[in-house]
Amino acid sequence: MDELVFLGNGSAFNYQAYNTAAYLIAGEDLILFDCGEGICNRLIKRGVLENARNIYVFITHLHSDHIGSLEALIYYNEKFLHKGFFIFYPRTARLKRLLQLTGVDFPFEIYPVPKALAGYEIGCVPQNHIPGSYGYFFYGSFSFFYSGDTCTVNARAVARLKSGKIDRVYHEATCSSSPIHTHIDKLKAAFPPALRDRVCLMHFDTPAFAEQCRAEGFAVAEVTE
Ligand SMILES: [Zn+2]
Ligand SMILES: [Zn+2]
Repeated sequence: MDELVFLGNGSAFNYQAYNTAAYLIAGEDLILFDCGEGICNRLIKRGVLENARNIYVFITHLHSDHIGSLEALIYYNEKFLHKGFFIFYPRTARLKRLLQLTGVDFPFEIYPVPKALAGYEIGCVPQNHIPGSYGYFFYGSFSFFYSGDTCTVNARAVARLKSGKIDRVYHEATCSSSPIHTHIDKLKAAFPPALRDRVCLMHFDTPAFAEQCRAEGFAVAEVTE
């Protein structure tokens, strides 16, 4: 089974980990989820961009730990890679304006989320975080839900994991009192122990919290250099 490859598993202020972002190789194409601070350089260092025919970037929301190096990645593609490069986000005009304000001075587009791409059927759902936050369902040879940042667990994602319609849920988690993130107690309530090895948690505040999630039976987003 394909799995997402994590470039980082940290939250915005986790100085011991890279920002949470992950990619999937779909045939000849690269599908990236978010592009936070330092993630463009992580991608270049890994050498995964050169091998891709098209680069598809799905953005969950506009916090800097999720888009902090998106402008750098657009430039890198424009100057060095010249790949098919597509950024997907439901509020297209908002993200386009933001990138224009950062100084992107060549023509580019932000695309609405497609219904199907690179062998996957795709569903986009609003998430409860800041305005303009989204999670993504992908159905294909490997089917999954990617939560982005949210303070609630999507009921459809739980039901589809239970029924086997999706193979995995990638979900953010926190142990803090933040009202805009999903407390580990909510995740424990949503996912019984028998399901937890198929729930991969991410966006950790500290490495110690990642270990706590593992001790509760959840899978943990693993990052390798
Ligand atoms: Zn975040
Ligand atoms: Zn956020």
